[in-house]
Amino acid sequence: MTARILEGKDFSARIKDEARAAVAQLKADGITPGLTVIIVGDNPASQVYVRNKHKTCEELGIRSDVIALPEDSTKDQLLDTIDRLNADPAVNGILVQLPLPSAIKSHEQEILERIDPLKDVDGFHPFNVGKLVTGAPTLVPCTPAGCVKMLDLAGIDIDGKRAVIIGRSNIVGKPMLHLLMARHATVTVCHSHTKPLGEVTREADILVAAMGRAKFVTADMVKPGATVIDVGINRIAPKKLVGDVDFDSVKEIAGAITPVPGGVGLLTVSMLMQNVVTATRLQLGRH
Ligand code: NAD
Repeated sequence: MTARILEGKDFSARIKDEARAAVAQLKADGITPGLTVIIVGDNPASQVYVRNKHKTCEELGIRSDVIALPEDSTKDQLLDTIDRLNADPAVNGILVQLPLPSAIKSHEQEILERIDPLKDVDGFHPFNVGKLVTGAPTLVPCTPAGCVKMLDLAGIDIDGKRAVIIGRSNIVGKPMLHLLMARHATVTVCHSHTKPLGEVTREADILVAAMGRAKFVTADMVKPGATVIDVGINRIAPKKLVGDVDFDSVKEIAGAITPVPGGVGLLTVSMLMQNVVTATRLQLGRH
C-alpha cells in the first residue's frame, strides 16, 4: 500500500488563511503587524528566502521591511540596527537571515540574543528556548512548529505515540523534541553517534528526519504504517533537491510521508507569519 502524501501546499494554505484572519482582526483594532528582516551580504539562497518572506507578508496584510546590509558589515553595525528595531513600536517581528557572512559568523549567538525576545519571530533567543522547554506559550522555531501544525491539520494523532527525531540541532531537532513531548508523545532523539540508528527509527510511529543527509532514511529503517516527516533539504545537482528520506522506497511502507520539495519546507514561511501575529499579541499582552 502506498503512503498518504502530505502535500505542503495544502497545509501551508490553511496556515496562511488562519494568519490572514488573525491579521484582519488586529487591523480591526487599529494594529498592523510588522516584520523586519535583516539580510547581510549577497548569499543568493538567502535572497530568495527573504523575497519569499516579503511576498508572503504582503499577501497576508503584514507590513514588511527588508534591511539589506553590505557583506563587510561589522558586528556592531548589526547590533545597532537590531537596537533601533527593538525600540521601534511599529516593528513587531525581527528576523536576522542566516547564515551570516563568515567574518561575523562567530558572533551569531550574540547577535541573535540582542533581539528583543518578544520580537524574536525565529524563536532562537534563549528566553524563548527556555519558555519552550518549560511548556509556556512562546515564539517557537518555524520549521518544527510547522511540522506539528501539519500533523494536527492532517488529523494524525500525537498523544501516546512513539516519536523518533533524527538530528539534534537548535533549529529543528531540539525544539521538535519539546513540541512533541508537550503533546504527550514518547520521544527519542537520534544523532550522528546513535548506534544502531535503524533499530531506533523502526520503533517510531512518527519519524522526523532532520539530518541533512540525502536519501539516508531507507525503507528498512521505517516501521510499516509510520508517519514520516522529511525536513531535510539536500541539493544533489544544480536543479535537484532531495530530502533525508529515500522517498520512493519509504512511501511503499509508510502510512503517510512528506515529499521534498513540496513538503514541510513550504510550512516554514507560513508559520513565520503566524509567529508575527503571536509576537504582536504578546507585545499587546494578549495570548
Ligand atoms: P544540522 O547540520 O545543524 O544538524 C544535523 C543533525 O543531524 C545533527 O544533530 C547531527 O548529529 C545529525 N546527523 C547528521 N548525520 C547523521 C547520521 N548519519 N546519523 C544520525 N544523525 C545524523 O542541520 P539542521 O539545521 O537541523 O537541518 C537539517 C536538515 O533540515 C538540513 O537538510 C536543512 O537544510 C533542513 N532544514 C530545512 C528547513 C525547512 O524546511 N524550512 C529548515 C531548517 C533546516
